[in-house]
Amino acid sequence: MRQHNFNSGPSVLPQQVLQEAAKAIIDFNGIGLSLLEVGHRTPHFVAVIEEAKQLVKELMQLNDEYEVLFLHGGATTQFMQIPMNLLDTNATAAYIDNGIWGNKAVKEASLFGNINVIASSADKKHTYINQNFDIPANAAYLHITSNNTVEGTQWHQFPTTDVPLIADMSSDIFSRQIDFKKFSLIYAGAQKNMGAAGVNLVVVKKSILGKIERKIPAIMDYRNHIEAGSLLNTPPVFAIYVAMLTLRWIKQEGGLEIMELNAIAKATLLYDTIDSLPLFNCRIDKASRSNMNAVFFIDNEDLQNKFLEECKANGMVGVKGYRTVGGIRVSMYNALAMESVIAITDLMKNFAAKHS
Ligand code: PMP
Repeated sequence: MRQHNFNSGPSVLPQQVLQEAAKAIIDFNGIGLSLLEVGHRTPHFVAVIEEAKQLVKELMQLNDEYEVLFLHGGATTQFMQIPMNLLDTNATAAYIDNGIWGNKAVKEASLFGNINVIASSADKKHTYINQNFDIPANAAYLHITSNNTVEGTQWHQFPTTDVPLIADMSSDIFSRQIDFKKFSLIYAGAQKNMGAAGVNLVVVKKSILGKIERKIPAIMDYRNHIEAGSLLNTPPVFAIYVAMLTLRWIKQEGGLEIMELNAIAKATLLYDTIDSLPLFNCRIDKASRSNMNAVFFIDNEDLQNKFLEECKANGMVGVKGYRTVGGIRVSMYNALAMESVIAITDLMKNFAAKHS
């Protein structure tokens, strides 16, 4: 039986994507070779990566001022590649710290230049997104995390600024309609809303590059990847293929408008259920709640463990909170069906009736 997959990442993928990816491993497009056996510079693979780039641009409604890259290393590599490319040693970049991933980005960036953390939600255990902050006009860029996977908060309105805006969208990429033109650089590890682990999407506005003095190792320099069309070295071919299939699926389902409607419907059902049952407690400021990762608690730890066990017994996986936060985390990425949210909210109601 297929499990209800609430994993935070790697996470649920559309069945259709899994089936097509499985087929391509055995015989890719009927060419008598596996996708894993063809060269990355052959027309077979170039068609895959070109379609993936085109779909990203189409879904984000971006023009040729932007370049789409598929890079190795996951989102974590971007924590250093961004400052390496955009922050001179004596310059200052602004960061907003809304949780564990933003904090890691700050630490890595401080190896390259000065970092000004202009806002942090650490004072309230990252249960909200900062609203009031000043962005220094001379900042090299402003970095935010659009969705905080671990803490369960999400930016619902992005800052407006003349400073280049950079967002780690690893855990809510392609889940909603956004004015992507507001951003100068967007990045995301693929393993949540966009496919399999092993590839990282970077969408960059070309005009922000080439403005610093640092010498950048060739493989780390975005300009080299742009010039080589993401084929500077052997790219993670299979992960890019799965991303392309997932992007195709998003488009076929109706694009970001439909992803957003589905995400809101699922999150509304879950949060309404939490709010209606005194046993469950969501500590996140209502205006900052994430539509992707709902983090909540049963204040009695024994009961909470019992609930987690019941989830497991009922075929629901990935529900335990992150190790530093604890509690319960229900991730509701694009490919998670509404039926799974109905199943867990039914379980919550039954559990509350038995134990309140
Ligand atoms: N940023 C965010 C918001 C994340 O959720 C994660 C992974 N969960 C990362 C960065 C790190 O991604 P990766 O493991 O691909 O380096």
